[in-house]
Amino acid sequence: MRPATRIGFGWDSHEFKPGIPLKIGGVALPHNKGLGGHSDGDVLLHAITDALLGAIGAPDIGTLFPPSDPQWKGADSVVFLNEALKRVRSAGYAIGNVDSSLILLAPKLGPHAGAIRAHLAKLLGIATDCVGLKAKTPEGIGTDGAAIANVVVLLERVVATPKKSVAKATVKK
Ligand code: MG
Repeated sequence: MRPATRIGFGWDSHEFKPGIPLKIGGVALPHNKGLGGHSDGDVLLHAITDALLGAIGAPDIGTLFPPSDPQWKGADSVVFLNEALKRVRSAGYAIGNVDSSLILLAPKLGPHAGAIRAHLAKLLGIATDCVGLKAKTPEGIGTDGAAIANVVVLLERVVATPKKSVAKATVKK
């Protein structure tokens, strides 16, 4: 029988580059630098995507959307997230809650945290109070040129075990 709950963990980092827009959690933030990368560099959406994929044992974001593939150049990371959400639903799970910690020196996320959490809740189809977001400064760890995201997700089974599997298990007993 598939487990009633599953946990997923995602981690990502992207380097700040001047002259490009900054997007975190799908929200455009005012800053003089953005996060570089093959896609739009949304470090938080990437970590959430990987956490969701990991929770159901699916291939990771880099395997599903390889940076070597030109079709993902400049891609909106919501595309990656939606693929992970589709796979989670197909596996018979729904998101219980998501928690995240971002490590970055600037910009300060405090003023934007509410907007980011509300947007993530909408993207994920869960209540805002099921989305955690903390911003930490990279004191003493030398990551002032980058943003790092750590994410955990909890999935809850919503589809009963297929009858065929139940029958098989019963026979075994
Ligand atoms: Mg990434």
